[in-house]
Amino acid sequence: MRTVIRDVRLFDGEKTIPNTTVLIIDDRIAEYDGGAGDIEIDGTGRTLLPGLIDAHTHTFVVDDLRAALANGVTTELDMFCLPAKLTELRKAAEHDDVADFRSAGTLATAPGGHPSQLLTAPGMDALDVGLFDTIQSPSEAMAFVEARLAEGADYLKIVIDDGAVHGTHLPVLSQETAAALVGEAHDVGLRVIAHAITAAEVRVAVDVGVDGLAHVWTDTTDASFDLVNLVAAQNIFVVSTLVYFEAITQNAAAAADCVTPGTAAGAAQVARALHQAGVPLLAGTDATPFVPAHGVSLHRELVLLTSAGLGNEQALAAATSLPAHHFGLSDRGRIAPDMRADLLLVEGDPTTDISTTRSIAEVWRRGVRQ
Ligand SMILES: [Zn+2]
Repeated sequence: MRTVIRDVRLFDGEKTIPNTTVLIIDDRIAEYDGGAGDIEIDGTGRTLLPGLIDAHTHTFVVDDLRAALANGVTTELDMFCLPAKLTELRKAAEHDDVADFRSAGTLATAPGGHPSQLLTAPGMDALDVGLFDTIQSPSEAMAFVEARLAEGADYLKIVIDDGAVHGTHLPVLSQETAAALVGEAHDVGLRVIAHAITAAEVRVAVDVGVDGLAHVWTDTTDASFDLVNLVAAQNIFVVSTLVYFEAITQNAAAAADCVTPGTAAGAAQVARALHQAGVPLLAGTDATPFVPAHGVSLHRELVLLTSAGLGNEQALAAATSLPAHHFGLSDRGRIAPDMRADLLLVEGDPTTDISTTRSIAEVWRRGVRQ
């Protein structure tokens, strides 16, 4: 099966080509050979992008992956999924009618640590999360990481969150336990991504040698901005999740609970500083079955990233080539011969108007037109 997309503006994951022709043969991008397609698509006035990658989601049901794909998100990087669910979702993601996904499997947190308090909150029982493995000492690190490998985790997520940002106190991994987890994960070839929200928590994550941070942080103290340089020096990537901070700030304003009103603004300032320091920012949403929503919120994240100082092409790379590179997904995130045909065709030009990523004309997953 040959699909030819003619006279299209192309953002290939890194740069823009104003007018070209793209050939898809079966599930791959191919070098255009001048021939006709079984399916011919007119790209005039449109832009072809790699399928989007959301670098921070919580995928609970197959419909989350369906919503993602409908919005041009062809891969979700889940940050916490229990074994039974992981098996079910992986099976579903073999099919081309939902987004592909990768997962951290069970995250590493102290007994009773974040996010246990959220999962036992009223209304959450519908998600059927139940009990999960936790860790409280460095001596348990090897067994913990082996169990994640056995359940099929693609990377390790560790939680360094003492509850302060949620207005409470929670048990938290000691620095020694976090360091042991990073060591064991790296020994078996797993990347480590840390959930940390305050500058003090991020400092622990950086000191134990994580590969990436699952969120920007929100403090705007001098110490917080010093940390930016440390993150840059250690080549740590940061998943932005600005749309998450926007959502919790709005919720807190409505409920007058613990999140301070400056949270979203602080997150945006830290994102700007990270970008200026050359830290790779990966677009992620922290999407859940509630808010932010799967799929659509990644488009909002792109707008927020441009507000934080990224150029439009930099924001688009943050949702395509950059997450593919930092998560080792070498078959996607760019449009080039032999790459997987995960593609998004939009009306208009997101390299000059980022909001046009929402004007979706076509989506392909692995060459299958949706
Ligand atoms: Zn999350």
